[in-house]
Amino acid sequence: MPRLKGMPSTPSRPSTRRIVTALTAALVAVLALLTASAPPAHGATGPVYAGNGWKAFTSAGVYSLSPDRYTIVFADDTARTKLAAYFTAPANQVTTDVGVPITVSTLLDTTPATSCPTYHRIVVHYTYRPTGQTGVSQGRPCYAVADGSAWGGHVLVDSEYWSTPAWFSTDATKNEGYRKNAVTHELGHVLGLDHPNEDRDKDGTVESYECVTTATGTRPLMCAPNGGYYNPVDAGRFTPPFDLPGLKQMLANYTLRKA
Ligand SMILES: [Zn+2]
Repeated sequence: MPRLKGMPSTPSRPSTRRIVTALTAALVAVLALLTASAPPAHGATGPVYAGNGWKAFTSAGVYSLSPDRYTIVFADDTARTKLAAYFTAPANQVTTDVGVPITVSTLLDTTPATSCPTYHRIVVHYTYRPTGQTGVSQGRPCYAVADGSAWGGHVLVDSEYWSTPAWFSTDATKNEGYRKNAVTHELGHVLGLDHPNEDRDKDGTVESYECVTTATGTRPLMCAPNGGYYNPVDAGRFTPPFDLPGLKQMLANYTLRKA
């Protein structure tokens, strides 16, 4: 057995028992050091299910994101007319920055929101209070039973966001930012991201909007009830410091889980 670095040399011959104890203590110390210095998402060789400002939707059975194309389809003509444009930016972003192709189609798909659609289809619904709660939209992910990858599913967008008088505020630009972020947030759930909220103030409760932020105060888009940017350019996009690394890791998990 090789001597561990840092172990004191023993001039007198110790009993076997003492050697075993010392080695065990040294091993424990080294293991503790490795554990303490290991960052959560870097240098890991296996799949990773949470990181800075993102969390995998493992509670919904989604552990990874498949590299095969996903197609956004619509429950009816109203959903297509109202919502298709909201999916362009996030679909392009996931296609380009994550490497998972997402197509925004013009197809209609009448699969009920209570059933999983065809492989890799994401059905978009324009629905009044889909959860019964005012102002709440919903993402319903399905998962592949064989490997726990995101299968597709349903995005149910609350039609109240387009009501008159304006739903969110009196600022039209900001309202559109809220709508974009709400739509992309639900898409994020179907792609396998959960809310990354955490008890940052250590008061024993994980609260709404309680998420890591950038230096300028931007939360992960997946923060509950919603985060993301609110300027007209970046609203509706997954945030580069939080959500995008999460999606990239979910894609990496697809291969890592098969290894
Ligand atoms: Zn959510």
